[in-house]
Amino acid sequence: MNSNEIDIHKELKKYFGFSQFKGLQEQVVKSIINRNNTFVIMPTGGGKSLCYQLPALIKEGTAIVVSPLIALMKNQVDAIRSLSSENGIAHVLNSSLTKTEIAQVKKDIVSGITKLLYVAPESLTKEEYIQFLKSVPLSFVAIDEAHCISEWGHDFRPEYRNLRTIIKQLGDIPVIGLTATATPKVQEDILKNLDMVNAKTFKASFNRPNLFYEVRTKTKNIESDIIRFIKQHKGKSGIIYCLSRKKVEEIAQVLQVNGISAVPYHAGLDAKTRAKHQDMFLMEDVDVVVATIAFGMGIDKPDVRFVIHHDIPKSLESYYQETGRAGRDGGEGHCLAYYSYKDVEKLEKFMAGKPVAEQEIGFALLQEVVAYAETSMSRRKFLLHYFGEEFDSETGEGADMDDNVRNPKKKVEAKDQVVKLLKIVRDTKHLYKSKEIIFTLIGKINATIKAHKTDAQSFFGSGADFDERYWMALIRQVLVDGYLSKDIETYGILKLTEKGADFIKNPASFMMSEDHDYNESEDEAIVTAAKSSGTADEVLMGMLRDLRKKVAKKLGVPPFVVF
Ligand code: ADP
Ligand code: MG
Repeated sequence: MNSNEIDIHKELKKYFGFSQFKGLQEQVVKSIINRNNTFVIMPTGGGKSLCYQLPALIKEGTAIVVSPLIALMKNQVDAIRSLSSENGIAHVLNSSLTKTEIAQVKKDIVSGITKLLYVAPESLTKEEYIQFLKSVPLSFVAIDEAHCISEWGHDFRPEYRNLRTIIKQLGDIPVIGLTATATPKVQEDILKNLDMVNAKTFKASFNRPNLFYEVRTKTKNIESDIIRFIKQHKGKSGIIYCLSRKKVEEIAQVLQVNGISAVPYHAGLDAKTRAKHQDMFLMEDVDVVVATIAFGMGIDKPDVRFVIHHDIPKSLESYYQETGRAGRDGGEGHCLAYYSYKDVEKLEKFMAGKPVAEQEIGFALLQEVVAYAETSMSRRKFLLHYFGEEFDSETGEGADMDDNVRNPKKKVEAKDQVVKLLKIVRDTKHLYKSKEIIFTLIGKINATIKAHKTDAQSFFGSGADFDERYWMALIRQVLVDGYLSKDIETYGILKLTEKGADFIKNPASFMMSEDHDYNESEDEAIVTAAKSSGTADEVLMGMLRDLRKKVAKKLGVPPFVVF
């Protein structure tokens, strides 16, 4: 059977009731029907499930779907069962089933009724199941949330590492990997670990043109700043992410006493309270949820108008996922992050207790967040570059939707410096990460530099008329513009690209702007706030007033009795 022989639009309508495919779905479905190993990268909500569900329903045999969460599998099975009169069309196979239930599942598979079999990766390692699955006709294996296979993804699960060996035992069947994680590093990990380097890859764009990206200095006035922001978005729904439960509680309270309807949400609250707060948000009984990252899985509120990060996230991947909850309906979505280098150091300290390999990954991912926060380039371009996507910051969709583009910093000619930088990368024979390159430029030595004799020695100290910050900013811009690339294997070693080599030969103008120095502006911000202390005081007084009222109400006394 191949995709030319089947009217897949008819099948789409028949099973799902949709008259059109979304994005790349049609091509993916065809690729799977034609028995290709297929790799699908689409943002959350892009419609990945249908990509394997439709071929599974059409094809002979049973498709195995590996998925990390039991709750998720149950939902999917229910959804598929509702499409058909045959209950056995989809099953879950896991440790919670009784013997009788397992017998039923097997019977349905053998009789050819079951088109989709959902399994958790740990169940798939069971010898009994492997033996059984070897004996029945299988159409393909789909691995959902395939990034779980990579330590560079946000949800590494060691069980995923065994999948390839198991699949091989099941016979020569196509493998389908699906993920919403788009970094080149994770993609490479998936393809290698699933041994599907030859896979047909389908990658959708991760650009969200309706989201506005902004970074602000995190100062002592962050709370009044957030309050002001929310009051400017009165009556609109928003999420505020904090790193700790304690901070979540604190901010939720501060908002409440300031007359903003807000509830906290974190894993320390009991399930009932969590469900209640989530419902209140969905039903618009409250405007704002203050939450840890525990909040969001499966949240489908289309009109979230802002997502604020009180603390910086651990990776740009998380940042993209979390901000992605804004503006799902295509309307306004403001993504505001508060940044201070102190927070970075806090996260680094927190990571220092982890195993070395994990630490290194953690630091590297965090450095990308720092780069995003400090850059003065188009934030959208930066973010999409991180996901391996080129974006034209002049004509691309949503090009003017960030603080840096709206308020550009002054740019200066940096042609000569770029040439110098590129030559050093070339002459160090691709041994150095940006740190060593910068050290070479400013004439500072470290262990790695000592250990290598390279042709770049003549450049040692040749860039000392600029500081580390300048060179870091330049490297970031040159990377995003494609003159250099980061080696995927080592995640950090800089390489000269063809475009870079051309630039050395024929240098053209290169306008760069220095990164933001948020620490400097932090002092400024505090000074400004002190000058206009009227507003800060007003906010504080308002808070006290409301707090007094609240306490008074609780005690059943008039407010003037309280403090
Ligand atoms: P993902 O797994 O990529 O996050 P899902 O598979 O959960 O996304 O799909 C997201 C939503 O898109 C679902 O509500 C699904 O019903 C809907 N959807 C998928 N394909 C189509 C289509 N062709 N037409 C309309 N809606 C679709
Ligand atoms: Mg999905």
